[in-house]
Parts: sequence; structure tokens; C-alpha cells
Amino acid sequence: MASGRFLFPFVYDTLPAVTTYRSTIIPRADHPISRRNLSDNAVRALYRLRDNGFLAFAVGGCVRDLLLGREPKDFDLATNATPTQLKKLFRNCRLVGRRFRLAHLHYREEIIEVATFRSAATGEDEPVDLTAGSGRVNRIVKDDGGMILRDNLFGTPEEDARRRDFTVNALCYNIADFSIIDYVGGLEDLDRGIIRTIGDPAVRFVEDPVRMLRAIRFAALLGFEIEAENWGTLVQLSHHCANAAPPRLYEEMLKLFLSGEGERCYQLLRRSGVFAALFPAVNSWLETETEVFPHVRFGRALELIDARIAAGESFSPSLLLTLLFREYLDEQAATCRKGGVSPQDALDMAVARFVEELAPTVLIPNKVVLGMRGILAGQRRFAVTPGRRPLSFITRPGFEETFRCLQLMAESPEEKTLHLWWERYLAANPPPPPVEGENETASPDAEPPRRKRRNRHRRRRSPATEGSLT
Ligand code: ATP
Ligand code: MG
Repeated sequence: MASGRFLFPFVYDTLPAVTTYRSTIIPRADHPISRRNLSDNAVRALYRLRDNGFLAFAVGGCVRDLLLGREPKDFDLATNATPTQLKKLFRNCRLVGRRFRLAHLHYREEIIEVATFRSAATGEDEPVDLTAGSGRVNRIVKDDGGMILRDNLFGTPEEDARRRDFTVNALCYNIADFSIIDYVGGLEDLDRGIIRTIGDPAVRFVEDPVRMLRAIRFAALLGFEIEAENWGTLVQLSHHCANAAPPRLYEEMLKLFLSGEGERCYQLLRRSGVFAALFPAVNSWLETETEVFPHVRFGRALELIDARIAAGESFSPSLLLTLLFREYLDEQAATCRKGGVSPQDALDMAVARFVEELAPTVLIPNKVVLGMRGILAGQRRFAVTPGRRPLSFITRPGFEETFRCLQLMAESPEEKTLHLWWERYLAANPPPPPVEGENETASPDAEPPRRKRRNRHRRRRSPATEGSLT
């Protein structure tokens, strides 16, 4: 790929002063990205911005992925139009975000995110101007330890590229001439397969510890190496991960384990110490053995999940977490049972403790916890064939997930036999399709929805009249 050094001038009407920057520009003839590779909506939005006199770039992950020949997950755009100008320009625009003011363009099949060029962190501890769209300069606010608390400062395209996380994530596709602009050496790193922060890794990781998890995810997903100094810093600062907001860490955890390279992510998380920072109790447990057997199910579950994702399957958060943490939860439940607690209560206690243990770092939403409890309780129910009221069991909301868990976890011959039995039972007694609007994450062991009044006196069906396996 040929590249050359240019002086690239940008002129602003509404934003900071006229600026000239040195950058690498790859003309259209020398790179493989065509407009056809972008979504139609992204191209239309870019053109509308350009035709109204604004700079308009496709940025971030989509440029990286297109250059690697991968299909982008989504398309992000960057422009010098302010949020207010974007709102006027696009009827389907909604302004979102407290921390960053962004425009979401809503199309039927996708949402395109458009961000006004933002400046780099200044570190100035000044009050924030939240009058988004005023075109006025807002300041970055950091805490005493250097973590960014708020950042809403409009900037130039180069500043916007430089405040991004990694060099390979800072490439821009310019709709004005279809060129690629590289302000930070991203093309070279992309070519060499390197994940490298833009600027000092220690500063960038402390500013936003989630970047450590992102470095791991991109390295695993793209088959890249984390640059040596970056890796050393990441290991050294891994404990900072616990400083990020727990709901954000939960989202990032899902992205890591559902990336399709979850097992590779897991290895890097363990090796770097990030796993220990996020899941201290589970990590200590993983480092011990139970009756001389090491705990290998976590990694195995991820290998299986990766293979299924490659085959086009998807996983709900409840199923993912159950598959990953079941061995841990089963052992915790066994400990709870020593006090004479019933198996179901012991399992509920184990889940409640687990969620509590995790809450300071990774906050699992309640409905996901409910789903996990349902799937786990269902595994106990499977042990009885067919048991009481099997039809009500297999028609409960969330049953599909519960059954998938049995299928995916069947390792021992007994578990495999059990799975086979229920598979045949379901083939002989197919459950009716779920009623629309039913709560998909409801625990399968939850009380069935209350019947309406007119059904109150109806005689209950005896188990014998329910479907059975012949
Ligand atoms: P993918 O969407 O495939 O997971 P992505 O690189 O597009 O990967 P997004 O989370 O969609 O990731 O973010 C879009 C872009 O925003 C990134 O490419 C990066 O340039 C920037 N970005 C995202 N998160 C951060 C962060 N924590 N710090 C700095 N820049 C970030
Ligand atoms: Mg993206």
C-alpha cells in the first residue's frame, strides 16, 4: 500500500481556529475501501454532511475492519457539525449521552452514531459546560487519580483521532475524496498486527481502565499482539480495572466472552491479572483444585461458545453466565447445603452470594440474575424424567435456554443420556410456540402465570393426560 506525507489543511467555520496538520493520506487508488463496503445509510449520511459543507469521516472500528477485510459491526461517523447542527440536518437524529454528546441517526435496520470531533484530554479540572451544540469549548474533568470523569470538548479531526484508544482504531475514511487519513500510525500497526495505545499507555489506561479490556478483546479478536510496553503496563495496572463503573464492566465482559474469541480473551484476562481484578473470588477458586481436579470448565465452556458463535448461534447473557460460572456456583451451593439447606435454597444462596461478590466490579442486571436462577433450577428439574407436570415445565418461559444449557453442558455419560432422553421427549411432545410478550428471562421454575378468573374452577389436568414419552 503506497502512502505519502501531506500537509492537510482543515478550515472551521463554527469550531476552533484554522488549523494545519501533518498526516498520512492514502488516496482512493491505494486502499481497498469502496463506498460499496459501507452501509447505504452510512454513505447517505456522509454525503448529506459533505453536501452541507461539513467534514464527514467514517471512523474507528469500521475503517479498521474494512481494511482487514472483516465485516464491520457498526458504522461510526465523525464530523465538524455540532450536535445542534446534526439535529437540524437529520430528521431521524436523537442526541444521546451525558458523558459525550453524540447523535444517533435512526434507520430501520441500523443506528449510525455521529460524533462531533472531540479534543484530546487537557487534564484541566474545570467545570463542565453541558450546553451541547453551542459550539463552545467544554473541558475534560479527571478525578485525582487521572481517570476521565467528563469529556465533551469539541476539537479538530486530528485531536479527535488522538483521543481515541488505539492506533488501529483511529483511522478515518474521508467521503470528500474517498481517501484514508492516518494521524497516528494506525496503518503501520494494522499491517504489523499490533494493538498500541495512542500516547503513553500508563496515562491512557488510567484515564479509562476499560481500555485494558478493549486492548485484550481486539488482540484476541483480530489475532493481534498487544505491543510489548503496552502489555507490561497493562499487567502492572490491571488492578485499575476495578475502578471503572460496574455496569460498564458488565457490558465489556459480555463483549469479551461473546466476541467469538472468548477463550483467547479469557487466557489474556487471566495472564494480565485483569480477570483477578474483576472476579477476585472466582479467580482464587480457579487457582485451587477440587479433589485434585483443576477447574477447567470455564475455559472449556468458552471454547464451546466460540465454536457455536462461529456456527451462527447467539447466547443470552443469562445462558452465557450460567455456562461460565456453573461449576463455581455448584460448588458454592454444595457448601451452603452443609448447613442443612434444601438444594434449591442452596443454589439460590450461591447465586445471591456470587452476584453480591461481583457487584463492586461487575454489576449483573437483576433480570439476567433471574434468568440464571431459572436455567440453573431447570438443570435440577431435568434429572427427573419426566417428573410431575412435564408439559408445564417444557412450556415455561425460558425453557429453551434451560434446555440449551443441558445440551451444551452434557459432559459425563449420565448427562448425555439425560439430554438424549429430553431431546426425544421434546420431539414426541413439541411445546407450543411461546406467547408473544412473555418474559423470556423468567425463571423456568417460577410460578406459572396466574390464570384468569374464568379458569379458576377448571379441573387440573392429571399428569397422565400430559404428553409422555412412549
Ligand atoms: P467494535 O464495534 O467492533 O467492537 P470499535 O472499535 O468500533 O469496535 P466501538 O466501541 O464501537 O469500538 O467504538 C468506536 C470507536 O470509538 C473506537 O474505534 C475508538 O476509536 C473509539 N473508542 C471507543 N471506546 C473508547 C475508549 N474507551 N477510549 C477512547 N476511544 C474509544
Ligand atoms: Mg464500533
